[in-house]
Amino acid sequence: MFIPENHKIEKNPERIWLSSPTMHGPEFEYMKEAYDTNWMSTVGKNINEVEKIAAEKAEVKYAVGLSACTAALHLCVKLAGERLYGKPAISHGAVEGKKVFCSDMTFDATLNPVVYEGGIPIFIDTERESWNMDPVALEKAFEMYPEVKLVISAELYGFPGRMDEIKRVCEKHGALLIEDAAEAMGATIDGRQCGSFGDYAAISYNGNKIITGSSGGCLLTNSLEDANKARKWSTQSRENAPWYQHEEVGYNYRMSNVIAGVVRGQYEYLEEHIAQKKAVYERYKAGLTDLPVKMNPIVEGTEPNYWLSSLIIDESAMCKQVRGETDVCYMPEHGKTCPTEILESISSINAEGRPIWKPMHMQPMYRMHEVVGRDGSLRCRTNAYIAGGVEDIGADIFQRGVCLPSDNKMTAEEQELVIEVIRGCFE
Ligand SMILES: *Cc1c(COP(=O)(O)O)cnc(C)c1O
Repeated sequence: MFIPENHKIEKNPERIWLSSPTMHGPEFEYMKEAYDTNWMSTVGKNINEVEKIAAEKAEVKYAVGLSACTAALHLCVKLAGERLYGKPAISHGAVEGKKVFCSDMTFDATLNPVVYEGGIPIFIDTERESWNMDPVALEKAFEMYPEVKLVISAELYGFPGRMDEIKRVCEKHGALLIEDAAEAMGATIDGRQCGSFGDYAAISYNGNKIITGSSGGCLLTNSLEDANKARKWSTQSRENAPWYQHEEVGYNYRMSNVIAGVVRGQYEYLEEHIAQKKAVYERYKAGLTDLPVKMNPIVEGTEPNYWLSSLIIDESAMCKQVRGETDVCYMPEHGKTCPTEILESISSINAEGRPIWKPMHMQPMYRMHEVVGRDGSLRCRTNAYIAGGVEDIGADIFQRGVCLPSDNKMTAEEQELVIEVIRGCFE
């Protein structure tokens, strides 16, 4: 582990965060407006405004304000399921017993809603050039499972892959696409906003995202009927009647008007946050340029929002690192390092990093689920990357990748310190 003598933790009492909320003032004014006018509820002007702004920014027709992106993804799965398979029996899920193709290297919230609705996730391996879902592997998966009609794909760390290509593959096979743009708000592909590619999409205002309401999310769609359905489901599925009348299962998923005030104020700063995150990425890129590492790939034609700067260590510069289910050890080696050593070292100067998302097919919960790569099924080969040979790209990126402190309030000096510590790991 590398700790520069003059940078021990007590010399750097201010924590350098991975990604923390950044408030500016208007957020408080809109929140206060909710308080002063007593719209302390899941109804009010802030929610209406957020829905208007969110739809405009993402270049879709409708946005539905919800308590979280996970709730939005859940309602996306229900909408898609009903459109594909019809209305399920009351105690059945919308995709009951159906296979659904899902991103593999992502947060589990991307695809847990498939399971809430009785579906069976099948994972699609990651594309090395983009770190996102591999459209070639997706095509392969449709050959293996032509009956599949739904795909959920996420943009990783705000650096989009070819979501447009994924949409084309879906259309070719008559499947619907749910786009999880939780990390990618403001990023574009050929000038088109992330969140506008899916038949349904979801964005997040969780506390560590590029803008935040402390929590919250929106469902995005171009269908008025679907937007209205999602809004109704999110408010306990009340029918239009003088009493509480119910024809279908409801949820308490609506966004709070107080939180909507924060989100409404934050939207004014989305572009500023993206510019700050881009500067962070570029400083890392310059500072690490001669090391055996690569930063998040930027796919041609895309403009990331640079939410989380991450790196991957070249295979030749990896020291031995072995991970169990919940623990890890490594052997320090001259001139080489590994994610664990880098994370321990930056932690020693009070900076926060994180391993890359552990792929879903490696999670105990989903271990028996199929995972499809470019060469077909990777099942039962999940540790093969250690031996080399079989391509399991998600497992490989997980083994060698690190998310770096990417806070937009990190000063250039603080970042220099982080860079110095990372460089030290390779000595
Ligand atoms: C943060 C995140 C979510 C969940 O967002 P919440 O608003 O916290 O529910 C879903 N998918 C991805 C890819 C995320 O990063």
